[in-house]
Amino acid sequence: MGEVAKKRVLLLTTTTGYQTRAFVEAAERMGLEVAFGSDRCHVLDDPWQDGALALHFEDAAGSAWTVVEYARAHPVAAIVALGDRPTPTAARACRALGLAHHPPEAVDICRDKYRSRERLLDAGLRVPAFARFPLTANPRKIFATLEHKLGFPCVLKPLALSGSRGVIRADDPEAAVRAFERIRALLRSPEVGVLREETSDSIQVEAYIAGDEIAIEALLEEGRLQVLAIFDKPDPLVGPFFEESLYVTPSRLAPEVQRQVVETLERAVRALGLGHGPLHAEMRLTAEGPWVLEVAARPIGGLCARALRFRLPALKEETSLEEVLLRLALRMDLRGLEREPRAAGVMMIPIPEAGIYEETLGVEAARATPGVDSIEITAKPKQKLVPLPEGASYLGFIFARAGKPELVETALREAHAKLRFVISAELPLLR
Ligand code: ADP
Repeated sequence: MGEVAKKRVLLLTTTTGYQTRAFVEAAERMGLEVAFGSDRCHVLDDPWQDGALALHFEDAAGSAWTVVEYARAHPVAAIVALGDRPTPTAARACRALGLAHHPPEAVDICRDKYRSRERLLDAGLRVPAFARFPLTANPRKIFATLEHKLGFPCVLKPLALSGSRGVIRADDPEAAVRAFERIRALLRSPEVGVLREETSDSIQVEAYIAGDEIAIEALLEEGRLQVLAIFDKPDPLVGPFFEESLYVTPSRLAPEVQRQVVETLERAVRALGLGHGPLHAEMRLTAEGPWVLEVAARPIGGLCARALRFRLPALKEETSLEEVLLRLALRMDLRGLEREPRAAGVMMIPIPEAGIYEETLGVEAARATPGVDSIEITAKPKQKLVPLPEGASYLGFIFARAGKPELVETALREAHAKLRFVISAELPLLR
């Protein structure tokens, strides 16, 4: 394109996982140079991670400063945060460097389940009633006295984890006390403690909203909302733990309901002050209308983005969500962007039980299921499997495409039914 040097994009990431690889592939296709910033430099071993910028995402201002210093010598055309934790750093660095991004204040609010509920409530949006309690509180007191005014069932959750980690439904005070203690233990575990989030010192309690759940993938381009996909979640998510499984788009909801969903999202992003970048939202639907459960200033997680393919008049071939987001960060032309015409979906394969993962049988047969595009088993042999609410991963992912969402759902279920997971008991520690 006549440019002497390639444009450089800085990817801020906490892992070397599949999402990172998908962004690297998209960047390479676009002829961009990729640099990395990470708080895991000491554990990075992939060759392309050489020279990653060492950051501490829990110190967003300090990390942003490191990025700005780096950019002086290595001009950066765009910064993309992968996942939740690097977004505050990305937002601050982008502001300092004049790059397009959501404002830091908005990103910080989105990462805090209490503050975001407050904002949405103030703006008159439908959110579940909520209250927050210190980790050191006595849960018996909370749930036995009038301090707890939300009624039952309720949902208890940490303020800053994601992927339904630590989210537990309780139907009575006894269950609520147990859930509180379980989340407290999770937040105090070394694994979560290492994240050093300020928001780790409280537990939120919310009224349980009974209703179908949807996820919305969207982006904001200089304040203009574009919904990329509304995903139905055809498996009931009623707790006590909320493991995601099926996502299918386009939504089968009535057009009028979809219109309400988009209008609600529009109001929510204004209330939160988001401006430019990816969005992923979760809502529940009742007879009263959509309830906002969460608006995150990041794209859909992990490999799930693979369920989305896009058409863009500027490009000859269909492209990925990662390329769309890189173009968005670079303020490139996204006019006419739309999702492919076929229905598509993903199953996040739930962890059936705790133990040591050995292998998955029946993958070839499952792959041969009509409509199935690909199956990725991401669990590694001998990996310890920890189900929700303490765990934080899936066994793998099944992707399907078909003419209609019903067929996608059937393909995903049939493929899953053909898989057999061999999980052995965890060996007791020898003492
Ligand atoms: P995370 O950010 O970890 O995914 P969420 O707050 O979005 O946490 O909750 C995860 C899931 O738990 C939701 O997708 C939903 O299924 C369920 N959930 C959370 N809060 C409520 C609520 N107040 N009422 C009903 N279900 C809820």
